[in-house]
Parts: sequence; structure tokens; C-alpha cells
Amino acid sequence: MESNETANLSKSFEDLGVSQDIIEAIGYMGITKPTPIQQESIPVILSGSDLIACSQTGTGKTASFLIPIIQNCIARNSNQCYALVICPTRELALQIDQQCDAISYFCPITSMSLYGGGDGKDFVKEKESLKNGVNLIIGTPGKILSHLNLNKNIGLGIEALVLDEADRMLDMGFIEDIQRIVNLMPNRKQNLMFSATMAPAIRKLAKNLLTNPKEISFSVSKPAEKIKQRAVSIKTDDKAQYLYDYFKENKDIKSAIIFVGTKASAKFVSYKMQSGGFSAKSLHSDKLQTEREQIFQDFKSKKIVILIATNIASRGIDVEDVDVVINYDVPEDPADYVHRVGRTARAAKSGEAITLINPIEQRKWIRIEQLIEKEVEIEYPEAYPCPKFDRNNLFKPKGKGGRGRFQGKGRNKKGPSKPRQPRKSNS
Ligand code: AMP
Repeated sequence: MESNETANLSKSFEDLGVSQDIIEAIGYMGITKPTPIQQESIPVILSGSDLIACSQTGTGKTASFLIPIIQNCIARNSNQCYALVICPTRELALQIDQQCDAISYFCPITSMSLYGGGDGKDFVKEKESLKNGVNLIIGTPGKILSHLNLNKNIGLGIEALVLDEADRMLDMGFIEDIQRIVNLMPNRKQNLMFSATMAPAIRKLAKNLLTNPKEISFSVSKPAEKIKQRAVSIKTDDKAQYLYDYFKENKDIKSAIIFVGTKASAKFVSYKMQSGGFSAKSLHSDKLQTEREQIFQDFKSKKIVILIATNIASRGIDVEDVDVVINYDVPEDPADYVHRVGRTARAAKSGEAITLINPIEQRKWIRIEQLIEKEVEIEYPEAYPCPKFDRNNLFKPKGKGGRGRFQGKGRNKKGPSKPRQPRKSNS
């Protein structure tokens, strides 16, 4: 008989009670099967319980609270603000808000992100939008507090509170602001707390804030110790040449996977490797299914040495004895990094995982290091000069600071406004 745990982990979004509108929208995001944290938290949040979840970025945590909150919000059917999501940084607020847009694409709700750094004009616009009614507010503590203080009615209608990355917010000294915000929401019925760790201070905060919470705990397993993880700082234009040199120097490699971010990169890298005389083939969604199966079989039987694969095409690849995994692009999702490097050093073998990081990808790499809880020494190959990768002063691309601080939708107007289409996969 199936154990409860196994039975639960094999549930679909329908089984978890998620509405068709949301299932359709998340399908466009490539989200078709719930991750473990989603399996556990969606039913709890839909039922209205409080929740404390120990979970890291990359586990599908954001959708695990946004999906049920959006659904509960629709059920309430009101123009008032239903939920407040507090998070530590503006980047995270924007990211959560973007996911909220995509998940609620077919739903009649509005959301808005609020974070510091804007000017007086931004503040006035935000104030207007809030007055007109926004269903979900996502933001950083200071800015949220300013608005709630100014318009106490907003707080009175809020029924659900989410503290995302609670441990980071405590580290950043936001606890007093959070407490003040909580006091401005006396009618809330549900409190949810997400944290990567369960430090004593988090337990204390949870005890203050939550009522009979359900508790769940998930973390992404870290890459095995026997995998030698390497990080190479290199410009994008030099990456293909680096690969060529690497495989020329390491002729004994029998099996390698190069992960790339897009089909275009897959085609380009595959062309470069083939013209360098290597046994290489690419696997991506432009290829026919039969062709993909053949390539995969040939790679498994070691007829092909180098497989160049996009993320989607490579899901579920299970090949023994891969000597090296190379990330040509730094994966967007830190959890993908763990899955990718797990392709090497399987069973008792050792293996190597190399990630090529251009300056713009430094931030993504830092997120990976946070997930694996390890600082990997950065290499600077002499042949390919590249700006220094300084963890305390990460590369900032020029001309990117000009985005308005106010990113709310439904600005100055009521009703839903959906500026973005859910992204379609490019793999
Ligand atoms: P998070 O843990 O919220 O940072 O999510 C990391 C990434 O996983 C995001 O890019 C999500 O779009 C993606 N994601 C969330 N849930 C799923 C799922 N069930 N299947 C595949 N990807 C997912």
C-alpha cells in the first residue's frame, strides 16, 4: 500500500484543489506538477490555517503561497486588499509580483509592489492606487508601513499576511517594522511564515504571530561532496572557446553534458564543438521527438561524447558515468543547478561541475551559492581576461537603473490590469 507521504507527493494541482484558471496560467509558466512544498502547503493555505514553512528559494516556494492566496482572494470577491506579502528586498518584491501577475493571468485580481527608493511622485501614485483598491500588496517593510500608517483602512481589510524570507528580514533588522505592520492589521485571519532556517529568533517570532500553525520543512539537497564544483569568471564571447580548449586538454573525457539556457545557444555551442572535431550533439525542443530519443540513446551508449542540452529538454535525463557537467549559462533557478550537477559523480564515482559565469550572471551565481551554502573559489583563466568577481561589489550593468520604483498594476485605476503574458518556454 502507498504510504500517506508518497500518496500526497503524487498529487496534481487539480487534486490539491487549485482552480482551472490558475492551472491554465501556471501551465504557461511551465509549472505542471506541484513541487513537494507546493504539495504540502497549498491545501493548508486553502483551508485557512496558519503555516510555518522552512524552505529555500528554488523549491517553488513563491508559487506555494501565491497560488492558494490568489484563489482565496477570488473566493472573497471584494475590491479591498486581501493579503499582504512582506519580503526583505525590492528585487524579491518585484519577482514575487511578477509571479503573481503570471499566476493570476486569467483571474480578476490586482496586485502591486511597494518598496523604498522612489520619490514623492511615486508615493502619491501608490497612495492613489491603494485608495482605489488593490487585492494583493507585495513589498518591503518600511514602505508598506508608511502606506498603512497613512491609510489605516487598508490594514483593516487584510485577511492574510505572508512573511517571506523571515530569517533574512530578522537579520536585516526589520522586526520592529514588521511588528508595527502587524498591529495595523487587527482583522487578519491567516498568517504564513517562510524561512530558510528555523533559528530560535524565528521560532520566537512564529510563536508571537501564528496561531496553531501547521509546520512543514523542505530543503533542496546539496550537491554531493565528491563533485568538484568549479566556477569560472569569463565573458560570454569567450565561453565557446573555453569549451573548445577544455575538451582539447581533457581528451580522456568519455561523457559530458553542457547545459545551455536557450535553443539558440544549444545550436551555437553544438556547431562550435562539431567544427572543432568533437563528437557532440544538441538536444532541444526544435528537434523531432524521434531525433531527440536517438541522440539521447547515442549519448547513453557513449557514441556521442558531448551532449548540449537546454534545461527543459534535459529534465529527467538519467545517465550514469557523466564525467563532467558544464553550465554554459548560469541557471536561472538555483535548484536547477543542484539537479544539473547531480548528473555527474553518480553512484560511487567522482565528477566535475564547471559553471561559466559572465559578469551579468554574478548575481545568479550568488543565489546558487546561498542555496548550496558554499562559496566556490572563482577561477580566472589567463587566456580570457574578465572583470573581477567581487562578492561584495557585484557587477552592475550600465543603463539598468532607470526603472520606475512604482511597478504596481492597475495604477490609478480600478480593476485588473495584466501587462505581461505568461512566458512561454524557449527550450
Ligand atoms: P522559488 O522557490 O519560488 O524561487 O521558485 C523557483 C522557480 O521555480 C521559479 O522560477 C518558478 O517559476 C519555478 N517553479 C515553481 N513551481 C514550479 C513547479 N511546480 N514546477 C516547475 N517549476 C516551478
